[in-house]
Amino acid sequence: MHATPEPPRGFLRLRQPLPLAVSLLLALTFLGAVIFAWQVFARNQRAQQRADSVRALAVVANQLDSQLRAYLGAARILRSEWQRDGSAGYAQFQADAATIQSAFPAFRALNWMDNDGVIRWVYPSRSNQAAQNQAIRNTPDAWTAFRRARDRGALAVSGVLRLQPGGRSIAVYLPIRRGAHAEGYINAVIEPEALMRQAYSRQFARNYSLSLSDGRHTVFASDTELQNAAYAVQSTLKVGGQTWLLRLSPRNIRVAGADVAWTVIAIGTVLAVIMAWLCYWLLITLNERRGSQLQTYRAANFDRVTGLGNTFRLRAQLREKLPAASAAAPLVLVLIHLGRFPLINSIYGFARGDAVLRIVTKRLLALVDSVECLFRNGSNEFAVVMPLAESDSEEALAKRLMSVLSEAFEIHGMSLRLPCSMGLAVAPEHGTSADDLLANAESALVQAREDKVSGHRVYSENLRTGTATKLRLESRLRKAVENGKLTLVYQPIVRVADRYLHGFEALVRWTDPEFGSVPPATFIPVAEQSGLIEPLGRWVLEKACAQAAEWSREFGKPVQMSINLSPSQVLDLGLVDEVRRVLDQTGLPPECLVLEITESLAMQSLDVAVDLLNRLKQPGINIALDDFGTGYSSFNYLTRLPIYAIKLDREFIRNLGSDPRVTKITGMMIQLAQTLGLQVVGEGVETLQQYELLRDYDCDLVQGYLFSKPVPAEQARILLRESRIFPHPDSHPVPRRGMGEGVPIP
Ligand code: C2E
Ligand code: MG
Ligand code: MG
Repeated sequence: MHATPEPPRGFLRLRQPLPLAVSLLLALTFLGAVIFAWQVFARNQRAQQRADSVRALAVVANQLDSQLRAYLGAARILRSEWQRDGSAGYAQFQADAATIQSAFPAFRALNWMDNDGVIRWVYPSRSNQAAQNQAIRNTPDAWTAFRRARDRGALAVSGVLRLQPGGRSIAVYLPIRRGAHAEGYINAVIEPEALMRQAYSRQFARNYSLSLSDGRHTVFASDTELQNAAYAVQSTLKVGGQTWLLRLSPRNIRVAGADVAWTVIAIGTVLAVIMAWLCYWLLITLNERRGSQLQTYRAANFDRVTGLGNTFRLRAQLREKLPAASAAAPLVLVLIHLGRFPLINSIYGFARGDAVLRIVTKRLLALVDSVECLFRNGSNEFAVVMPLAESDSEEALAKRLMSVLSEAFEIHGMSLRLPCSMGLAVAPEHGTSADDLLANAESALVQAREDKVSGHRVYSENLRTGTATKLRLESRLRKAVENGKLTLVYQPIVRVADRYLHGFEALVRWTDPEFGSVPPATFIPVAEQSGLIEPLGRWVLEKACAQAAEWSREFGKPVQMSINLSPSQVLDLGLVDEVRRVLDQTGLPPECLVLEITESLAMQSLDVAVDLLNRLKQPGINIALDDFGTGYSSFNYLTRLPIYAIKLDREFIRNLGSDPRVTKITGMMIQLAQTLGLQVVGEGVETLQQYELLRDYDCDLVQGYLFSKPVPAEQARILLRESRIFPHPDSHPVPRRGMGEGVPIP
């Protein structure tokens, strides 16, 4: 229908799937973060490992390079010795070679070969005997290096050679020149293993595995295969025209492997699940707490049925908006009271009652600025708070509100109308605080409700004084009801045709020490509004029935007694039982009791009235419609209401004879009512003319000062005892015709 105003921040709840989604997202994010962190960590580890290997490789490569260069230098020294001493012979060569080899033990052999590449001198001669006179032309790799040395006239280093018997070796060829003469070559054979051992320490060997190759063949390998080849690093070095590839890999891998990665992911997943669960639990708990806070807030501030703010919210809104109200920008408060609403609930159930409230809300919302302007201020009270536009007036606003509420409510095939009263107060003129404004609007409402028919009142100073007096009156009346200070008088009802005493109408009287004699027209509305009508009505019912029963017994014939019921009494569902109880207790036959109801009861909700009266009349009680002819008299009521008589209102009878229109209408009304099988009672008959006109129109009964004022019980008793027939008002002797008819009076 409409959105309930938003609660303040802090009360907002997460929608249901959100906590789950947030928790899952958190879990996934956490897992993602774990995997990412792991990857960064692993990458760092790998990079660290690699950096270590590269550093180690650089050290070994440097060492190896220096070693090789040192060995090549040593070969050059041998050549220098040759070149320096032109006459040096085999023995000198052997001696120089021995000296050099002792300093450079990786030399497996130091040879001299002639210009054709045939090894002539070998050192050490014993182990190298087999190489003597060997032409290196037969060893392709050696021959390639040799030719390079010969062609360039510079030192050349071979690749990996498999020389007999010494396993893998590297050969160095160094041309010897003296002047323009080529004097053969120094051929140094280096044992790579010995060279490598000098290039790195034992500690190093424990940490790294390495290999050296010429690109095709391995010349040295610390292990049969390079350990952890995936982490290997390599570098090349070029010596004597030969390129060497040095590869190195760590023996111990510090980088965590896939197994550790899976463990980390598994732990991460478990933690993520725990975290998600905790997060979900936390959110749900918070949500529930907020939910219950929200519920408490809603219950404290909003009406469940209409969704509107309640009385607390109304006060809060007034406090918020009042400071801004000024003569130029007034704020109006309208209190709207729906009459008869409790009846809808009690007769048709709360579902229909709620439906009415929702319709009212919808209609009112169409007229106000926003849902924040409308409140449900009580079970059957609404309130409107809104600024009054310059072009608008409180009267106009009240009329607009009234026009939507006076339309019938169509509920479950029934058409109901509820009387509605409004009290208006305008700020700052009628109050600048919430309490004052509410109190004054309430005074105006009280006054409007006393008007009985739908209407509104705007607060004024007079109204306030009137309300104060009314409150005083109410308190005095309460005392009077409690202390049994009320009395009953009885007004005879006379049959028109023969002036028989037909019965009595019981009328309540109250004389207060402070206010004096207060007419029922004044105190009955006060009693109705204050709830006093219930005890008052019960007292009247009991007293009048007891009186009628007593007279019936005393005079041996039933005495008819009419009792007035105010609308709120009729609408009280307990009334039916109450009446039955009183009839039982007093022993008054039901047909002796006439309950007078007023037209206003039927006017607002005919269906309800019909329903209630049917229940009420069931034991055999008669129901009369009082004050007929005032207000919105409609014959439509007469056809539907389960009544036996109508009482033409006093105001109506007053103009009888003097106003031809009224006179004519009266005649027609009497005829019409009788056509519907109803009796007609003329009320307030004061003149002979009125009586005669009524008699001419065949009116059934009359009541008025012409025959008797309402009299105390004692006098009524005398009337009963002494006279069955009232004298003709023109003071002629009372005709004694038709004595057997009517209520027999002894
Ligand atoms: P009502 O039921 O229409 O009662 C008739 C009223 O007309 C009475 O006024 C009565 O005194 C007055 N009346 C009768 N004949 C004449 C007449 O010839 N001329 C004039 N001027 N008045 C006449 P009362 O007693 O002041 O009662 C006024 C109203 O108060 C009653 O109107 C009735 O609606 C209400 N009332 C009186 N007693 C009770 C009661 O016990 N319960 C309830 N709920 N209402 C009561
Ligand atoms: Mg009456
Ligand atoms: Mg009346």
